[in-house]
Amino acid sequence: MEQPASRASHPAASRREPPGEVPTPGHTTRLAPSPTGALHLGNARTFLINWSLARRQNWKIILRIEDLDGPRIKPGAVDLTVDLLRWLGLDWDEGPMVQSRDLDPYRQAMRRLAAQGLVYPCELTRAEIEGAAGAPQEGSGETVFPASMRPAVVASRSFDDEHTNWRFVVDEGSVKFTDRFAGLRIIEPARSIGDFVVWTRRGIPAYQLAVVVDDHRQGVTQVVRGNDLLDSAARQILLYRALGLGPIPTYTHLPLVRGVDGRRLAKRHGDTRLDSYRRMGVPPGRILTLLARWCGVETMSGTIDATEFSRRFDLTTMSPGDVVFRVEDEQWLRLPV
Ligand code: GLU
Repeated sequence: MEQPASRASHPAASRREPPGEVPTPGHTTRLAPSPTGALHLGNARTFLINWSLARRQNWKIILRIEDLDGPRIKPGAVDLTVDLLRWLGLDWDEGPMVQSRDLDPYRQAMRRLAAQGLVYPCELTRAEIEGAAGAPQEGSGETVFPASMRPAVVASRSFDDEHTNWRFVVDEGSVKFTDRFAGLRIIEPARSIGDFVVWTRRGIPAYQLAVVVDDHRQGVTQVVRGNDLLDSAARQILLYRALGLGPIPTYTHLPLVRGVDGRRLAKRHGDTRLDSYRRMGVPPGRILTLLARWCGVETMSGTIDATEFSRRFDLTTMSPGDVVFRVEDEQWLRLPV
């Protein structure tokens, strides 16, 4: 197993949690799957780590289904997501809470932002924005919204049109936070993203707003997720501040699982959905054992279950590098039982 290049700069390393660590009552985390993307090996690894940290440190776990995030959800997708998490051996203390069932809390947040003159309706198309913005940000692939396209005056107003996009005004300046795994981050959202969408013309909140409203109202203090959302954390911190919400949670952004081409695990790398493995007869222990190997957890011989994983997992010794899903991994998963 590859060793971290520098443990010293690893914030988790200075706060070792030996087996039997001190419980941290009062902390709450959430498992927040988007049922659109059907659970695959990459998100399964993130959820397993999140669940293990929580169970080991006595955090409360809320299951939140982020069905506002992405295209329309297929019927049955929510139940399937819940069922697959259980199949892996994960559990939770509250939920599932399904975001789309009540949009009022998000509307209320929009009213507050609008009253403060921090959001504005924006009918510009993606093509118009890309045309004016030039090349997308290297790495994230996101287009930076040019400040020149913001209305000259963004004044206090009412949130009076749910069927257009609304953008949040991002001023120059940096957002600084210490990620429990990725360390000190200094992000300049005006440069990396610009004014971003908080409400969409589909009549629903954008992910960035929904996640802040929900994390706040559910009392979430620990956010554990993939590091593709590191830059989003800065946007979310801006929204916490603008809405006067707090405390801002502790973030733990984890390395991703990638294909051999170095790109984030996705359909192009074959079908790595848990549901497909389950249909093929792959037992959950086999999947957990692969995930454990990817987390630097020794599985000795045989397979591991979620509880055993949580006992052995150590965030402080996990490699900070992304994991590669190799052909051999797939072959191993498919070995006859
Ligand atoms: N729903 C997102 C996902 O499945 C996670 C968002 C978050 O944890 O903030 O990737």
